[in-house]
Amino acid sequence: MSHPCQRCGACCAAFRVAFHWSEAQPAKADGVPEALASPLRRHELAMRGTETLPVRCVALEGTVGDGTRCTIYAQRPAPCRELGAAWEHGEASPQCDRARAVHGLPPLTPADWRA
Ligand code: SF4
Ligand code: SF4
Repeated sequence: MSHPCQRCGACCAAFRVAFHWSEAQPAKADGVPEALASPLRRHELAMRGTETLPVRCVALEGTVGDGTRCTIYAQRPAPCRELGAAWEHGEASPQCDRARAVHGLPPLTPADWRA
């Protein structure tokens, strides 16, 4: 069974992804590539594509709800690392549910994590 997030990607096309500038290059050598971040507020950057409507992060590849991939997975900023998929670790995730709803996808259930 593939990971449910690989068939989704909704949270990468639903919210503004804002993070501290120190998470991006050049401040952090293995951080978010400079070209993929745009200035937001004094100490913050946003993933390009998430600061305007319709929201879609420039690092997202594929079709939401079908097959997607983060092209900078190892370099993604904290908000992306912190957004938990619902029930992956036995807990609900309202953010995950909201993102999926934006794209007309039903919330994940514990059954989605069973092989
Ligand atoms: S919305 Fe939830 S299931 Fe979809 S990619 Fe994000 S965390 Fe994964
Ligand atoms: S950096 Fe990757 S995980 Fe974060 S919003 Fe963009 S595509 Fe999604």
